[in-house]
This record gives sequence, structure tokens and C-alpha cells, in this order.
Amino acid sequence: MTAALMNTYQPLALSFTRGLGTRLWDQAGREYLDAVAGVAVTNVGHSHPRIVAAISEQAAMLLHTSNLYSIDWQQQLARKLTQLSGMERAFFNNSGGEANETALKLARLYGWRKGIEQPLVVVMANAFHGRTLGTLSASDGPAVRLGFNDLPGDFAKVPFGDLAALDQLQQKHGARIVAILVEPIQGESGVQLAPPGYLKALRDLCNRHAWLLMLDEIQTGIGRTGQWFAFQHEGIVPDVMTLAKGLGNGVPIGACLARGRAADLFTPGSHGSTFGGNPLACRVGCTVLDIIEEQGLLENVRVQGERLLTRLRAELAENPNVLAIRGQGLMIGIELKQPIRDLTLIAARDHGLLINVTRGKTIRLLPPLTIDEREVGMIVRGVGLAVSTD
Ligand SMILES: *Cc1c(COP(=O)(O)O)cnc(C)c1O
Repeated sequence: MTAALMNTYQPLALSFTRGLGTRLWDQAGREYLDAVAGVAVTNVGHSHPRIVAAISEQAAMLLHTSNLYSIDWQQQLARKLTQLSGMERAFFNNSGGEANETALKLARLYGWRKGIEQPLVVVMANAFHGRTLGTLSASDGPAVRLGFNDLPGDFAKVPFGDLAALDQLQQKHGARIVAILVEPIQGESGVQLAPPGYLKALRDLCNRHAWLLMLDEIQTGIGRTGQWFAFQHEGIVPDVMTLAKGLGNGVPIGACLARGRAADLFTPGSHGSTFGGNPLACRVGCTVLDIIEEQGLLENVRVQGERLLTRLRAELAENPNVLAIRGQGLMIGIELKQPIRDLTLIAARDHGLLINVTRGKTIRLLPPLTIDEREVGMIVRGVGLAVSTD
């Protein structure tokens, strides 16, 4: 937009000055229904009064002291997250990429303790884990990787959902493998769901070979799919899980949680963060979890998510542009046959709806977890109009 900014994004000519709940207002005062939520971030809605109060009270009291001192809100958030997830210990960062770096360092340490000299982490084709050099190396696709060689090379890639490929990899490199890093639903690559039973099979495989199962729940976590964490639909528990996005509702925070043999790998000095886990971010995190609980938002995601998916399928059933509609809870992808033109985004915008496009061909819907039946109708209508414009 402006030459003073590095050329990393191509933002729409649209800028917002205010948000409340599921709505945003642009500079001209026009209202929009936000079905993007800052990419799965503002899960409890914009300017939630309890978040506003938590931020202003904490800002007036204490923003930052560093991890040289114990931080009560950090311990509270760790307790809440471990209780909700069945994990045992947490480390706090400022972003998803950093949380995944923490997970990758745990995998390295785990291998080192086992005497494995060149530890290998299994990752998936089309994965997205972040933009740091390490997480980029764990991610797939020339769009994010091109020009950044040499990336750290301690990863082996298999197709998402393909157990036979994993079996072959095990036979070839089994002795070097220390962990599997996987998104329960691949968000950035177009809301790709794993086949039923896949996570359970990965859990069994990790148990059998003493590998760590590390789930990247940065996009799927914090209620997005209708459970606190997507793995809870599958009746398994990972060894390591990463969170960010929805945990702070817009205040930057990331977390890496671990249990069992992964929980005690770090020792004083082996990892750290200046800002990570500060009182402001952790108090907001605690407040987000309270709001989700008290407003019954997990149930709302299940009900409205099902409704949205069903109505989209009905609305778009005869649309020749649509290839597939898939999702879980309020994480829904509509894959089109042709690459999506800007017109689609503009058409949606002109109908007062904000939608997102990922991997060029998939409309991604990630509305706040608070949407109601009327708003589901607005999204279905807006998407219908946008897709038929294309
Ligand atoms: C967004 C995202 C990340 C990266 O998070 P940042 O906060 O942008 O570093 C990593 N993994 C997944 C699955 C994500 O959706």
C-alpha cells in the first residue's frame, strides 16, 4: 500500500476503524459481517467488554516484569490450558511460529536424550507451521519457501492422510525419527480434513515407536472446531500441542503444551522469551477461556457450524463453480474449480461480508464463535452472491 512498508502483503483497499462483536466498520462508516476474524484470531468477537476490561485493568496495574520473576496470570493460564487439554506443562510465546519453534526444540532435545544424532521430524505435504526459518522448513509449498535456502533440513515429508507412506518412511528412517508434527485440519492449504481415524492411527504409531505426536492447533484450537482442541473429536491426546491465534483474541500470545516424556525436557536456560507469558497476554488468555465457557461457545460452534455447512451445501449445490465444501465447526472451506479472482472478495465486500481466500482456489470462512442463526444466513447469502459473480 505504502512504499514505507515492505512488500509482503497485498491488502484490499479497505481499512477498519472500529469493531464490535461479529461486526466491523470501515473508514466510511460501512458495516461488515466479519467471517474472517483476523484469520481465526478474534474468536470471541471484537471489543468484547470483558476483554476490554481485562486489558485496561491490567495495563493500569502491570504490563511486564519478565520471566525472571514468577507471574501469577501465567501460572493460571497454564493451569487452565492443561486442565482443558489433558496436557501437563506449558511454555508461552508471542506467536504461532514461535510456539512451533518451541515444539521443534522439544523434538530435538527428545532425540538428543535418546542418543539420536540426526533427529528427523515427520511433517505433511501442504503443511503450514509458520514463517521462521525452522517452521518454514517444516512447511510446504514454493510460495512460502522460495528463495530462503538453505532451510534446516531435519524434516521428512509425507502426504497428509497417507498411512502407507508413513509406514515406508518408518522402514527407511525409523531410527532417526523423533516426532510427527501435524495440523489436525490443514487451514492455510484450504481447510483439508484428515481421513477419519488418521490422528488415532498416528497416535498408535507414535506409541509403538516412542515418537512424539505434536499437534499444531494454532488455527484449530480454542473452540474453532466445536471442541476446545480439534484432537478432542478423535479421543486421543498428543504429547505436544501448539496454540496461538484465538488464545489472545488479538493480543499476541502463543503456547506450547507438553505432557509425559515431553513435559520435562527443558531445563533452566534451555529455552526462554522476553515477552512470552507476560501478565497482559496471559490475563487476556484466561479471560478468553472464561468467555468461551460462560457463553457456551463450544456448543454454539457445533450448532452454527453444522447449520452453516448444511446451508452452504444447499445454496451452492447447483453452482458450476464449486468443487467441494468441507469443514468442521466454524472452520469451513469452499473450493472452487477456477482460481478465485479479486472480484469474489469484492462482491462479498459489496454485500457487507468479509471472507478470506487461501491457496488461490478456496474461500475460507472463520467467523467469530459467537455468530447466530441470522448471521449464518447472511454468510450463506453473501457467499452465494460472491461465487456466482466469479
Ligand atoms: C497461523 C498459523 C501458524 C503461524 O502463526 P503465526 O502467529 O503467524 O506465527 C502456524 N501454524 C498454523 C496451523 C497456523 O494456522
